[in-house]
Amino acid sequence: MPDAIYEDLVHRLKRADTIGSVLGLLGWDEQVNLPPDSADRRAQQLQEIASLHHAAASDPEIGRLLSALESRDLAPGSDIAVVVRHARRDYDRASRLPEDFVREKAALDSEAYHAWAKARRASDFTAFAPFLGRQIAMARREASLLGWGDRAYDYAIDLHDPGLDAAFIEPLFAALKRDLPGLVRRIVQARTAPPAHMFRGFDAASQREFIREALAKLGFNWGRGRLDVSLHPFCAGDGLDTRLTTRFDENNPLDAIFSAIHEAGHGLYSQGLPAADHGTPLGQAVGMAVHESQSRLWENQVGRSPEFWRFFEPRLRSLFGPQLAGVSSADLLAAINEVRPGPIRVDADEVTYNLHILMRFELEKALFDGRLAVADLPREWTRLSEELLGITPADDAHGVLQDIHWSGGAFGYFPSYALGNMIAAQLWYRALESLPGLRDDFARGEFARLLAWLRETIHARGKRLDTRDLVVAATGQPLGTDALLRHLSERYLPAGPTAA
Ligand code: ZN
Repeated sequence: MPDAIYEDLVHRLKRADTIGSVLGLLGWDEQVNLPPDSADRRAQQLQEIASLHHAAASDPEIGRLLSALESRDLAPGSDIAVVVRHARRDYDRASRLPEDFVREKAALDSEAYHAWAKARRASDFTAFAPFLGRQIAMARREASLLGWGDRAYDYAIDLHDPGLDAAFIEPLFAALKRDLPGLVRRIVQARTAPPAHMFRGFDAASQREFIREALAKLGFNWGRGRLDVSLHPFCAGDGLDTRLTTRFDENNPLDAIFSAIHEAGHGLYSQGLPAADHGTPLGQAVGMAVHESQSRLWENQVGRSPEFWRFFEPRLRSLFGPQLAGVSSADLLAAINEVRPGPIRVDADEVTYNLHILMRFELEKALFDGRLAVADLPREWTRLSEELLGITPADDAHGVLQDIHWSGGAFGYFPSYALGNMIAAQLWYRALESLPGLRDDFARGEFARLLAWLRETIHARGKRLDTRDLVVAATGQPLGTDALLRHLSERYLPAGPTAA
């Protein structure tokens, strides 16, 4: 039965989403194609489109349509109720932020990104510190404009993962902090490290060819996606036009391959969201923790499995015969599954990766509750890195300046990665139960059953359930650390799970 009010709302939400996608495209282009001296021009473009987007998302007519629908007795969990609940939240966010604020924020994001990139090249935190200070102040202003008072960090978490906050995350991360460092030590002791410098001269064009084939096998739709190069790999766009990036190192092909599989995991989620509901909460990802669960599941549980490489190793050898002539299958798999604490998060293995996140969560909390001044951040970074990873960063570029997130004011995002790892492990064990013989599929280069299962349990649901409820519905368990610790023990301590 046609419902003119609901249809008008959906039309306006989709229009705002389309303008937002142009903003995303400009951001993608900025990191992939922009000439070095054109940053000012891009900042102007971003400012104008951001203000158009803001106008569309805060269109007073959306407010009126929402009020009209809210006055009805909507069945909880019905499509209309889901759309209204999320659209109300998004609308309040958009309409309570003054246009001046939105323009200032868009300009700062662009300026701070370029300041960060330059400071990182020079390995000089002091050049970036004022921009970080401004981003934190901006985040506080935003939280207070939206009625979160001084709970600015909880607001930041809620932006990425609706319904989660620092109090929910703290005990989960405390459990990881208790169990992971010991697990890392046992794993490092138990495993033989692969030979150093075993990869040389892997040309980027052939790496790209391998990646294109591998992602197509996983189910990525290249008719609606592409792969480019950026400093920091990411996935932008949406399911209708999915932009993946990676970066190529001729002496470490695994970097590009696993970055690409990771980003493709995000892309597969976007491409699996219901197309007809695109641009409305029914066709949007639930949050970043679940997004990261998709990228991490494909990257780690699938991409680092021996079965995956039983299928893909011959293809890699056919592209890189001379380069792999002296590399045994065992050494290749050892390199793929190497566990070694290092300074850089994006280079980290799936075990120590979580320790990088625990650090950033503690630092962000301290920055937001005023216990830590921006100027003291490098010192505190080093202290935590030594405590958790046993690593003293060589310089700012390998420490506090390594991540792009804070330059764009993306606070409260890092926890999503470790939460995503937990959810990925829970999904993995559930998938193994639900899909007998799943690992054998991978050895035959077949991934369709797993993708279909993820489509059904996660992708097709859009925002119908919040993160915590979705995890219970999909895995039968509340979000926790047990599955992740079990996965890491089983994979890296082949003798079997030890008490973790
Ligand atoms: Zn990711």
